[in-house]
Amino acid sequence: MNWKHMTKPEIKDRVYKALAENRNYDSDYILGIPGTYLDTAQFHRDADFLEDAPFLRTFINNPNHIGCHTLTGDEGEDLFRGTQKIEVELIRMISEEIMRADARSIDGYVAPGGTEANIQALWIYRNYYQKEFGAKPSEVAVVFSDDSHYSFYKGANLLGIRALNVPVGEQDRMIKSEALQAVLEQAKADGIKYFIAIANMSTTMFGSVDDPDQIADVFESMELPYKLHVDGAFGGFIYPFTNPNSKLHFGNPRINSMTVDAHKMLMAPYGTGVFMIRKDWIHYAATSEASYVQGLDYTMVGSRSGAQAVSIWMILMTHGPKGWKNTMERLIIETDKLCAALDDMGISYFRDPHLNIVTMHAPQVPAEIPGKYRLVSDNFGAEPKWWKIVVMQHTIGKVVDQFIADMRSALA
Ligand SMILES: *Cc1c(COP(=O)(O)O)cnc(C)c1O
Repeated sequence: MNWKHMTKPEIKDRVYKALAENRNYDSDYILGIPGTYLDTAQFHRDADFLEDAPFLRTFINNPNHIGCHTLTGDEGEDLFRGTQKIEVELIRMISEEIMRADARSIDGYVAPGGTEANIQALWIYRNYYQKEFGAKPSEVAVVFSDDSHYSFYKGANLLGIRALNVPVGEQDRMIKSEALQAVLEQAKADGIKYFIAIANMSTTMFGSVDDPDQIADVFESMELPYKLHVDGAFGGFIYPFTNPNSKLHFGNPRINSMTVDAHKMLMAPYGTGVFMIRKDWIHYAATSEASYVQGLDYTMVGSRSGAQAVSIWMILMTHGPKGWKNTMERLIIETDKLCAALDDMGISYFRDPHLNIVTMHAPQVPAEIPGKYRLVSDNFGAEPKWWKIVVMQHTIGKVVDQFIADMRSALA
């Protein structure tokens, strides 16, 4: 096991050692790279506090993590090997210890966000169908529930593949097998032969969770080729900790790749999406023309700061597995409290019991509430059907309590 709680000095020591293992622009002869440290007039390299700030120190040293280091290991860019090893360790921790993959069976990298990680999956599978089956992009479709994130439409648009949304139950927000089957029958009739299926580990709007086996069963019963990707951008750092019976992990052989976002539930800085895929797949995203990058490039993003990977690693190590589970369980308790109050007021809502999203039926919510609490509706502009609450760290206690009190007095 790599993932354990570490003390502040231990974390600091590890990151500074990694930085010392990197080549540094101010102490090494680096003459062929279009990169340097951050502008010294703006970012003072000798500020005292940097001795005690491993993330900021990494940030201003500016190591480039271009490429996929779980794949290239010692063959990759060697200038920043120290912090790149932290990224490799991070991908192993998330894939093996949170998402139950076999040891070293996953490739991955820290992406700018969930959007890119989702599109990276679509890109790999489209290229796979093209290369192995001679598919035309128009014969490939990505299939997802109506409540899925719009990044799948964005990706389909960029890649020239079809986007097929499947209706969900109005109250339970679940895909019905018959509805999925109907969409796939129509797709077949329209000449689509190859499929990319999405299972959500929490949708953004409802916190609804798809059943990956139910989805896979439909593709298999219809004998349609599919690859299954899990979108855990929202749920990836909470659901596995709050639902021990989760089916959305690499222990499930039907799941081939996953997106999780550290900048949602893990409270990392923006720029910390995580893409993970089983070994022997990421080469479908290789750009062989990237021949000046040592170890080639297998990502959409290209150059990216090593500070992002370090920030995720530091948060995980600060809490350790038990500490993080407690932190997420605390959010569930707060969400339970909110739901009990809504029940008491007779307000109906959708909520998965393992998640911290509560989506209320809009007509029951007093008019002054959504604006005051910045609630999000299913449909900006049009008449909303739903108003959504996300119980996050900053809302525990005061915001949730004030919301409950305001709801009660508005309804009275
Ligand atoms: C936020 C989110 C995304 C997109 O992630 P970004 O980091 O904003 O690019 C994708 N899927 C789900 C379910 C999300 O909640």
